[in-house]
Amino acid sequence: MTSIISRVDAPASVSEVTSTRLADGRELLYFDDTARPLQRPSRDRRDLPGRGPSGEIRYDALTGEWVAVAAHRQHRTHLPPADECPLCPSTDARPSEIPAADYDVAVFENRFPSLGPDFASAPAAPGWGSRGLAGGRCEVVAFTPEHTGTFAALSTRRVRTVIDAWAHRTGALSALPGVAQVFCFENRGQDIGVTLHHPHGQIYAYPYVTPRAAVMAAAAGRFQEAAGGTATLTGSIVASERADGDRMVVEGEFFSAYVPFAARWPLEIHLVPHRQVPDLAALTGAERDELAVLYPDLLGRLDALYGSPTPYISAWHQAPLDPVLRRSGYLHLQLTSPRRAADKLKFLAGSEAAMGAFINDTTPEEVAARLRDARTGTA
Ligand SMILES: [Zn+2]
Repeated sequence: MTSIISRVDAPASVSEVTSTRLADGRELLYFDDTARPLQRPSRDRRDLPGRGPSGEIRYDALTGEWVAVAAHRQHRTHLPPADECPLCPSTDARPSEIPAADYDVAVFENRFPSLGPDFASAPAAPGWGSRGLAGGRCEVVAFTPEHTGTFAALSTRRVRTVIDAWAHRTGALSALPGVAQVFCFENRGQDIGVTLHHPHGQIYAYPYVTPRAAVMAAAAGRFQEAAGGTATLTGSIVASERADGDRMVVEGEFFSAYVPFAARWPLEIHLVPHRQVPDLAALTGAERDELAVLYPDLLGRLDALYGSPTPYISAWHQAPLDPVLRRSGYLHLQLTSPRRAADKLKFLAGSEAAMGAFINDTTPEEVAARLRDARTGTA
């Protein structure tokens, strides 16, 4: 089990934030590891066309779920060569999306967003034929100025800056009009649809509660009500997993990671705080310090399993902003991978894709044992 020395009095955010605008008006923020901002030009000298209109959301009356229709994204950048990477620092000869010669972590509004740039709530009481503006915000988080590498290989200090950036953006986006839920995530690996190699993640601010969050919020609400408000579902599960031990991967002072009892994916890890917090913005400095060690440790274990990079989706589940749903909301990370062997991926076929009924070919206990033994830092 991992243990680290925590500083209980650590400030919640230890990074310096600088905000600026790109040539077409999009917001860009620099998060620096040091308290002293780096020297950088603040003006984007590109001649960019104006921003396009927002797409639309359409209501699927069969399931009660919203679908974002973003046909304009067909023309977005797809696997550019390294010398045309939009996330590398700018040079005089080649301006990128980040108008600086260097940076630590940069966050900016996606040029080809699925949601936004407008803000609008999803229509109330929708039915067949209901549509609305795809309001909200899609942001890109560049984890490092280096074009190659992995999140797992970032320094602890840099991971702490990324956590501060996630927390800052979660707080800021939650305050924007019409936003119902904020989702920080990373897709890693071309196999699962990554269109840029440069290490980066994304943040979506949705104008509605997403289908999966709605299902989980309903389960959490039912549990909390049955417990007379004295317990949370996620808190109860993390306590049970820690007591049981069979599926544990890493246990810290503030967080535990385990393979869930009913894992859907060949590789699935949940990383959960020991106390109920709604989102990343609510984490204390000491909790963020520990997360900066535990989270990349887990990513390193995924890569160490087969001695080569494992594609994954890293998804931060944060409480929706609806005050009722938020009462039972509980931050946690769901880290999943379709990799089921060194050279095999699980594809979502009939049962999973059509019915949402997952069939897992591995046992969670066996996967947890392998992850506990995985030697990290060998990616
Ligand atoms: Zn790059």
